[in-house]
Amino acid sequence: MGAVRGKIEVRGIVQGVGYRPFIHRQVRRAGLRGWVKNTSHGVEITLEGERDALEAFAEMLRTNYPPLAMVESVTITAWNKAEGVDGFRITESTKLPLRRTLISPDIATCDDCLGELEDKNDRRFGYPFLNCTNCGPRFTIIRDVPYDRPNTTMGGFPMCPVCGREYHDIENRRYHAQPTCCPDCGPQLGYCDADGTRVEGDALSLAVETLQKGGIVAVKGLGGFHLSCRCDDAGAVLRLRNRKHREEKPLAIMCRSIDAAKKFCAFGDEEAAVLTSPQRPITLLKKRSDMAHLTNNQYLGVMLPYTPLHHLLLRSFDALVMTSANLSDLPIIKDNEEAITALQGVADGFLLHDRPIESRCDDSLLWVHEGMPYFARRSRGYVPYPVAVDIDGETVLACGGEQKASFCLSRESDVFPSAHIGDLKNAETLTHYEQQITHFEKLFDVKPELLVCDQHPDYLSARYAYDRCKHEGLPLIAVQHHHAHMVSCMADNRLTGKCLGIIWDGTGLGDDGTIWGGEFLVGDEQSYERVGSIRPIPLIGGERAIWEIERIGYALLHEADGISEENPVWERMLLRGMNCPASTGMGRLFDGVCALLGLRSSVSYEGQGAVLLEAAATEDEGRYPVVIEGDTFDWREMVKAIVHEKVQGVETGVIAARFMNTLVEMAVEMSRRICGDKGLQHVVLSGGVFQNQYLLTRLPRRLREVGLTPYIHRRVSCNDEGLSLGQLVIAKKGGGVYVLGSTAEDR
Ligand code: ZN
Ligand code: ZN
Ligand code: FE
Repeated sequence: MGAVRGKIEVRGIVQGVGYRPFIHRQVRRAGLRGWVKNTSHGVEITLEGERDALEAFAEMLRTNYPPLAMVESVTITAWNKAEGVDGFRITESTKLPLRRTLISPDIATCDDCLGELEDKNDRRFGYPFLNCTNCGPRFTIIRDVPYDRPNTTMGGFPMCPVCGREYHDIENRRYHAQPTCCPDCGPQLGYCDADGTRVEGDALSLAVETLQKGGIVAVKGLGGFHLSCRCDDAGAVLRLRNRKHREEKPLAIMCRSIDAAKKFCAFGDEEAAVLTSPQRPITLLKKRSDMAHLTNNQYLGVMLPYTPLHHLLLRSFDALVMTSANLSDLPIIKDNEEAITALQGVADGFLLHDRPIESRCDDSLLWVHEGMPYFARRSRGYVPYPVAVDIDGETVLACGGEQKASFCLSRESDVFPSAHIGDLKNAETLTHYEQQITHFEKLFDVKPELLVCDQHPDYLSARYAYDRCKHEGLPLIAVQHHHAHMVSCMADNRLTGKCLGIIWDGTGLGDDGTIWGGEFLVGDEQSYERVGSIRPIPLIGGERAIWEIERIGYALLHEADGISEENPVWERMLLRGMNCPASTGMGRLFDGVCALLGLRSSVSYEGQGAVLLEAAATEDEGRYPVVIEGDTFDWREMVKAIVHEKVQGVETGVIAARFMNTLVEMAVEMSRRICGDKGLQHVVLSGGVFQNQYLLTRLPRRLREVGLTPYIHRRVSCNDEGLSLGQLVIAKKGGGVYVLGSTAEDR
């Protein structure tokens, strides 16, 4: 048998991850000849040799790939006559009309690069932008595909001859590393004072000096700026809080190493593995010593350095506060000029560099639950990896919620969830949202054929969807909020068919026009029925009660025993049902109990009531009466018992624990009844309330004890950031309601 020529196409995350050098080594080992190139689909390998050898080679590629790659498919697309090529080479990329590339997320500095950073004899010694095929910026610098230097923000930095030689040397770790650079040709640091005036001298030393003196420095990172200060200087932290208008929200810290992190938090190997993973998320860890100035709950957000610049900065500190540089929930700041303007009066100095950031990307935030990430925010390090959902069909854009906005764009059976976007009520955030949608459509080269949004017509994401569909003549589907949460958790676990959803959150528009959020739903991807809920809570003054939670505490008390007369205005409002919309939101029940326990009378961010109760809870197995009337949890007996124990002087932490234990038992009892009636086995837990680790640990355990199979989120967040995944799957499977375009019969 003679030699033949075969063309092999590899799809997946195969660009910017050292895939072609890997192929080169494998081809040489197999004694084949030909070339490899990046295409907009992935990678195309043309080889000459015996047909058997080529087939074996393709087979090998399915399971063998470098650590950061992810191979989806390997296909031999053509057989031809051999033309007698010699050796093996890597050829220029071609731009094809269809873009099937997967783009790698940003990856933390690898050990080899760290070695060079510390090596006095290396030409990249102390260079804050070194990277290689195995690490460095990716998603945040990519402007277009294919992933080649000119299509990134490194396009403006032509390689010096030495870097060029490394780039072309197949034996080199930087072979075809698109963002590779060195002190001679790459980005440079700069330092500006509080006014934004350039200061001469070593930028890094100037920043360290400012930090050491208790100053606040804005540091340009991968996906945006951080505001940094010493975390052992309570005064500095307080100044940062005041200037950033972040009086209460927890602040994350960046620790030099795992050992340094152990000075602040108690954690084990599972957490350490996530902390040191190439994604380097902020991991929420049980705080050790008194860190009240950083967080008022039991968790402290900790991350390890993920860029060379961070490693250099952290040489001088065990840990630094590193919080996203944004003001009052605006998008994270990414450009130098933007930082200097927006952070006037906030930062005492600016540690800048001249490599532009294309896409904003906040740090990811998660807990480690049973050894696996449990996201509060899925962003840097994970975006834009797809989430596979095993459903093909039309290209769908799911527009998400509003406060924790995100979107999902599908391409065949892949879903690409966006990075953390934030609260769309800010005009800047809405613009960022729209820009990222456009960017994703360009990177993945798809145009949605169908849009899907929340049923709440006032959500700005729903308005975006409506306007766009009107304008482009596309169909639009609306999906009920809690159904989307439920299907999100199903898709997250690749679960199909009928199941029970325990969907607890703060607020979502229900099918009956009231506010829901303490729901038990039975359904699948197409439809659902509401089979249980909690007794509605009147919100005195509507939206105001979400912030002034004493109003909710008052309403609970009023409903429970009807004797409170302290506030005649509220009393009258309740009696007449005047401006007291009813909510079944579980988050509201937490708020009310938080207020009743005297923990707080008002909150500064939504969900704070639940966070404070979780933080207060001690170990206690007690609980209050669980009264279920029909399909409704009547919390009045529980509220009475709580008030009674409080009067008796029972410790707040014990009451908090008993309150949550009551909810667990209520959920178990409801699940037992519903699953028994309907013959169901699977129970999915979703909605923002399941960020509560107390519930997340106990409820699944108890559900298992009664013979049910619980599922929690694994790949996306349980809060509204995860909504878009559920919306997308519902739309793809023919659920939801048409708002624009074809009627349900057309589908
Ligand atoms: Zn590296
Ligand atoms: Zn160079
Ligand atoms: Fe929600």
